[in-house]
Amino acid sequence: MKKILIAGAGQGGLSAGYNLASAGFDVTIFEKRERGKTGHDWHDVFNSDTFDCSGVPDPFPVKKESGILRKAYDPDFISPDMKHVVKNPKKPSWSCYYLDRKFLSDCLISECEKAGVKFVFGAEVLSPVCYEKKVYGLNIQKDGKKFIVYGDMIIDSAGLYSPVRMNLPDNFGITKNYPEKDIFIIKRCYFDRTDDDETPDFYKLYFFLNGKLGIDWLQIYPGYADVLSGGFGSLTDLQVKNAHTSVRNANKVVGDKIIRGGYEAKIPISLTNAKIISDNFAVVGDSASMTVPINGSGIELSMKAGKILADVIINADGDYSAKNLWNYQFRYQKKFGEKFAGVRTVRLLLQTLSPDDVNYLFSSGIIDSETAFMGGEGLKTKDILSKAADAAVRKGIVLKANKALAEYACFKAAAYMMPEKYDAEKVDRWVKLYNRLVF
Ligand SMILES: Cc1cc2nc3c(=O)[nH]c(=O)nc-3n(C[C@H](O)[C@H](O)[C@H](O)COP(=O)(O)OP(=O)(O)OC[C@H]3O[C@@H](n4cnc5c(N)ncnc54)[C@H](O)[C@@H]3O)c2cc1C
Repeated sequence: MKKILIAGAGQGGLSAGYNLASAGFDVTIFEKRERGKTGHDWHDVFNSDTFDCSGVPDPFPVKKESGILRKAYDPDFISPDMKHVVKNPKKPSWSCYYLDRKFLSDCLISECEKAGVKFVFGAEVLSPVCYEKKVYGLNIQKDGKKFIVYGDMIIDSAGLYSPVRMNLPDNFGITKNYPEKDIFIIKRCYFDRTDDDETPDFYKLYFFLNGKLGIDWLQIYPGYADVLSGGFGSLTDLQVKNAHTSVRNANKVVGDKIIRGGYEAKIPISLTNAKIISDNFAVVGDSASMTVPINGSGIELSMKAGKILADVIINADGDYSAKNLWNYQFRYQKKFGEKFAGVRTVRLLLQTLSPDDVNYLFSSGIIDSETAFMGGEGLKTKDILSKAADAAVRKGIVLKANKALAEYACFKAAAYMMPEKYDAEKVDRWVKLYNRLVF
């Protein structure tokens, strides 16, 4: 029986592990946290087709009734000076799961165990065991003891700062460190409410609040106010404090007692790593930078990627060379990776704008409910960019928008050139090109 080792019980690794164990593979997941301590202290939202598409059984028999499956609403957008609000048309845009992350994590672990996956909790993966371009195993530390485990195939699902990816030799060609500008730093707090749940639920998204390069959101739910402060590349305690004060001043419903969360977390918000495979090795989830580049939603993408990876391994007939695993990278990139090039372009454009520029985009109607919510998909890249490019009044924005459009076109061309079949030289050339344009 082929032995699969997975570093980290992230959603991507759990999805791959579930599908591989169900197909008869010997799967072990090494997770540094203890059983019952994985996940996060907040709720997440993700697409309702995630379980079906990732092959993992939907663990929630009663959905609508329990409030787990619900319609998602886009937020109202607020300009940096708080003078302009682009109202969400209040049409539910997509059907999603709304789930406590700890609950999700526990359910996935339980489904994996039913399928035969073995877990070693409290086991910190220190680095990969490599020779030439092949990964043979993992260096692990548990209960103060260090040891090595060897496997036929190693999957890295240990998140943004995975010591597996970050300790790979350079000749693997896998990006080890993502640039600061591509890391979204977040502090998410659930505050109490001051109004005994009288105010109906609402959702607001603030751009560059108090001049901070980033976004803040306020979501009002029964029993609590979800306030998220995020910065691209950096986020200071003072910025978070000021954001909380401004949000509270504008929304009296937000109390000052933190009832959940309140710690810092980071999300990679670029496009997928140019290379996510090598001999006997594949990366999945945040470690591979598989999130939506503007809001960092990565649960759905990680789980769907885990399923693609498992299918490729199952069909590889025991040969887990880069040549066969390239199929995983190619299929993921074509189905999901390229889709987010436009969203990333908008995010990069936003990062080059000043709060005044963004105020202008609101006040001149360039960001309006049509461009922001058309089709219910939120911030439509093409329309925003072309409208910004049309805004000849403000020259700086036009130049930046045109530059962003040109970069977007280059990226699309590079994505189109991705080799379908693995050829080491061609792949290396393509990876260099992609990296020049993305990282
Ligand atoms: C504030 C915030 C809100 C978010 N909201 C959403 C949302 O609403 N919807 C959505 O889709 N996504 C959301 N995301 C993104 C989502 O969390 C990730 O994209 C997704 O979890 C990626 O999964 P992953 O498989 O990479 O694993 P991760 O969730 O990154 O998990 C990695 C696992 O590896 C373990 N690990 C790390 N290092 C080691 C080690 N050395 N040894 C052993 N184990 C290790 C960790 O303990 C963890 O269990 C949010 C993220 C944040 C920070």
